[in-house]
Amino acid sequence: MKFCCREIEELHENSGLREFAVFTARYPDGFVFVLQHRALDPDALPPFTESPMSTVSELLLKYCPWCGVNLNQFYCDQLEELDRSGLKLGMGR
Ligand SMILES: [Zn+2]
Repeated sequence: MKFCCREIEELHENSGLREFAVFTARYPDGFVFVLQHRALDPDALPPFTESPMSTVSELLLKYCPWCGVNLNQFYCDQLEELDRSGLKLGMGR
């Protein structure tokens, strides 16, 4: 696996943890790059609150925020290795 920079490699290793993470997810026409933050550990119970609360937040990325490469171009032959579609909002848990 060849990463464009150390930051992306570290964030990919965080996928699914109570951290920021970067991974790919399947989309109708291919893959998207997801920058995701999880507020809870994978096995944690959601806190009780009467107000709506987001425990998972995410943005879709086109370029690496650290080194600037076009992500779909740089990772064109590694998109499936980075695939964690089950973690994406609206696609699983
Ligand atoms: Zn990079």
